This record gives sequence, structure tokens and C-alpha cells, in this order.
Amino acid sequence: MTYDTVREVDQAIADALEGERARQNDTLAMIASENHVSEAVMEAQSSELTNKYAEGYPGERYYGGCEYADAVEELAIERAEELWGAEHINVQPHSGSQANMGVYLAVLDPGDKILSLDLTHGGHLSHGHPANFAGQVYEVEQYEVDAETGYIDYEGLADHAEEFDPDVIVSGYSAYPREVDFERIQETADAVSAYHLADIAHITGLVAAGVHESPVGVADFVTGSTHKTIRAGRGGIIMCDEEHADDVDAAVFPGSQGGPLMHNVAGKAVGFGEALDPEFEEYAEQTVANAKALGDRLQEHGLDLVSDGTDNHLVLVDLRPSHPDTTGKEVEEALEEAGVVLNANTVPGETRSAFNPSGIRAGTPGLTTRGFDEEACREVADLIYDVVEAPHDETIIAAVSEHVDELTDEYVLYESAPHR
Ligand SMILES: *Cc1c(COP(=O)(O)O)cnc(C)c1O
Repeated sequence: MTYDTVREVDQAIADALEGERARQNDTLAMIASENHVSEAVMEAQSSELTNKYAEGYPGERYYGGCEYADAVEELAIERAEELWGAEHINVQPHSGSQANMGVYLAVLDPGDKILSLDLTHGGHLSHGHPANFAGQVYEVEQYEVDAETGYIDYEGLADHAEEFDPDVIVSGYSAYPREVDFERIQETADAVSAYHLADIAHITGLVAAGVHESPVGVADFVTGSTHKTIRAGRGGIIMCDEEHADDVDAAVFPGSQGGPLMHNVAGKAVGFGEALDPEFEEYAEQTVANAKALGDRLQEHGLDLVSDGTDNHLVLVDLRPSHPDTTGKEVEEALEEAGVVLNANTVPGETRSAFNPSGIRAGTPGLTTRGFDEEACREVADLIYDVVEAPHDETIIAAVSEHVDELTDEYVLYESAPHR
């Protein structure tokens, strides 16, 4: 893929697109929610389907000329059903947040109650933060992780549910390094007659590959993203039992969206197809093994991991015990200068602000796509540690940057991209 055609009409955008390609090739993408899709997925996403209106669902569209749109969406659904085993799957949500909105609209009335994890403990804006529509339309209370252990406080959640009597309990998180006990949360939801929405945005691919327990068939609703641990391009999905299928479909269209982004649905179909290949299971297993290697090595250096480790694709480092005077933002900025891109993150019991929090979050889905193994991830942990130790030392940052160049040269991302 080249951007020559864009360049003919728009130099500035071609420069930015090529810049972004080079940035991705030449840096380590360790933001836990990011990954790199195949060129096949990107090609599908840039197809003529971007021109097509296909409001409705396969076989029941409000527009003519939908035979290929139907074929694409039917395949996306079929493949998704094979990956996650749900009775019903809607592949139209434009994003994970839109998927959550779809579920809320399907089962809640304005003023109804949501119980979800606190954002600073690893929750997500779309779970009812005041800045999100859900926080404005519904009554929201939040549960927490145990500040001591870093694990979900399941008992506290059950007590809180008893007291608050929510209509929906949301599980599934943005910065939680441990396996989620969906069955236990379902029991709590059942005990208070609430729906359980399991938002597996971060672990959609891990669940598909069977390396994380699946909430499908357990929770009433499952939402996911299609661009984090599964490489199907930016977007969302909703899964549910047949009994909720019509409500969910109506909540997505016309409830909250217009025409589906059919070019993205095509990207999802291609990415889901790739994930059905047995190789994807190896990829998911390697992603988890890599996160464990990364975390173990950081701990060997004396850094503190929230929950003392990881079961999934990410680690959350609490800098306070080992580096009380260093903030996550400082480390994020210094690492970015060295070519390691991750994000500052709040930690349970946060004592700083969300803009300058005490932790960093690092994920391995992107590195694993590039072919990194445990040994390479230990090397990366050493680099991260060097920068944590001296975030303002330009000599160290330059040395780390040189090492990152070696790694990105060895583990090539997009073969067809021009290299440094
Ligand atoms: C990433 C994420 C989402 C989806 O985010 P979008 O940016 O809207 O795709 C939803 N829930 C959780 C828990 C997430 O981490």
C-alpha cells in the first residue's frame, strides 16, 4: 500500500499518513488498547464500501444495491459467531463505546441505575462517567478494586449491589491485569435482578482464542472492541442471547446509529477470518506470555505491579513504592522520546491527578504482532526500567532510543513500508 494517490491531491495529508506509518514502524506500540492490523484488513477498510448506505440488517435494508454489503455483513456475523459462540451478534457498532450505548438503550430507561467500576480503578468512560452520556442519562454508582491486592473486590461489589439495586452491572475493564470472574459477577447480578453487561473490549481476542474465560453464555450482554487484542480494525460488537436480539439491533440502528460503516464491517470480517486461523491462538497465548515476561522482569528491577502480576495482555506499574518522586506522565514522555509508546495511568488508591497519575500501563498485543517473544519483552522491560530510573537523562534516553531502533529493525511491522 502506498499513499501516492493521496499525495497527488493532498500533500499535507500524505505527509501525515506516511509520518504515521513510519512512526508505527519505528516505535514500540505498548499502549495496551492498540494493535496493528494486517494490510488485508486495511485494504478492506479502504474499499468502495465506504460509499454505500446499508441502513438496516442483511436482507432487510432501507436502500437498494446492498447485495455485497449483505454478503460482507453476513460473513462478519458468521465468523464472529464462530469466534465467540454467541447466539446473536451485531457487528455494526462504530466503536466499543457505541456498543455499550447500544446495550444501555436496549434495556435501560433514563434514570435507571448502572453499577460499574470506578474509572481510576480501571473502568471506562462509557461505563457511566459524568463526562459520558451514560453518566448524564443514568444514575451511576461505582465499585472498586481492593486497594491492597489490586483484585476486583467481589464481596464489596455484592454488598454495593444489594444496597444500590442497580438495573445493570458492568464488568470488563480498561486497566485490569487479572482474569475477571464473570460467573461470580453474574451471581451478584442475578441476586439483585440486574442485567450483567460484560465489556470485554480489551480482551476480545484473548476470549476468542480461549486464553481468558469467556462471559458468552454467562453474562446477559457482552460488548467488545475489534481493534485491541483482535486485529479486525477499529470498531465494536455486541453479543447476546436470541431473546435480546431484536432489542439490541433496534438500539444500534435506528436507536443510536445511522448507516453502518460498511467498509469497517468488511475490515471486521477479514480480521475475524484471520482470527479463525489456528495461528491466532498462538498469537493470543504469546501475547499473554509476553506480558508475564515483561511484568516479571520489571518486578526483578524492583518495580511494583498492581495485583503483583498479570493474567492477560497488560501490566500496570505503580511507581509510588519504588519511585515516589516520579510520575507516570514523566515516564510516559521520556519513553516516548526514546520510541516506547505507552500511557500514564491511574492506579488503585490514586494520590495524584488523572492528568499526572502515579502509574504506567503497558501492553503486549502490538509487540506480539511484530513477532516479539519473551526474551525480546524482557529486553523492553530493561529499557523501560532505565528510563524510569532517569527520565530526564538525555544520554540514557538516547541509548534506549538506539536499542529501540535495533528492535524495530529486527521485528519489521509492515513489510511494504519504506524503512528508515
Ligand atoms: C477501549 C474500551 C472501550 C471501547 O472504546 P472505543 O474507543 O469506543 O472503541 C470500551 N470499554 C472498555 C472497557 C475499553 O477499554
